[in-house]
Amino acid sequence: MNIILLAPPAAGKGTQAALIVSKYHMKHISTGELLRKSLKQDDDISKEIKQIMNSGKLVSDEIILQLIEKELESAEEGVVLDGFPRNRVQAIEYEELLQRLGQKLDAVLYLSIPEEVAKARIIGRRTCPTCGKIYNMQMEEMTEELCGSCHTSLISREDDNEETFDLRYETYMRETSPLISFYQEKGLLKEIDASLKTEEVFKRIELILNEV
Ligand code: AMP
Repeated sequence: MNIILLAPPAAGKGTQAALIVSKYHMKHISTGELLRKSLKQDDDISKEIKQIMNSGKLVSDEIILQLIEKELESAEEGVVLDGFPRNRVQAIEYEELLQRLGQKLDAVLYLSIPEEVAKARIIGRRTCPTCGKIYNMQMEEMTEELCGSCHTSLISREDDNEETFDLRYETYMRETSPLISFYQEKGLLKEIDASLKTEEVFKRIELILNEV
């Protein structure tokens, strides 16, 4: 099974992807995470990518497609794509890549959420730098900013602030939201209300995936 999580920033793609992979034993591919990992090197290209990410714009299709191709070729199980494709060029290249690999796309889960709800979430979002677990300080009752799994101090992503959120949302509306009708026309789009609680959103995803 191959699925795409399509959503505006802070709709909960990463959280739902983690729940999906643990239940369905799939591979989670987050292009944002792959980019953040690659930024640990202090070279010119890393600096350029970091600057693009912090301005809320999209990294070049060429870089993203190279990352994705490598990940898909080494995937032995189904894949949950989180943050890819983000525009029409990437969507078309992904179709061609799947065809070359003799695979197909099974569903596109569109996590819909009002802009203001997403914006409020981004301010409370924390990530564990060790295991990658995502927390929301507004939704979870936490007294300390420590990871519940590995006890590392949680951090805020550099691009999780109000200003960058507005830019990322604008980029999403312009570049990514046209993919909603792109996949609707192919009969692959399933819309889920992502303003609900994490467990409720996941229940709806399970109902969809059990039918795929
Ligand atoms: P995310 O973790 O998905 O929110 O992505 C963080 C940032 O990484 C985005 O704002 C983009 O700058 C970049 N990025 C992630 N995925 C892609 C993609 N598929 N195409 C272009 N840029 C991407």
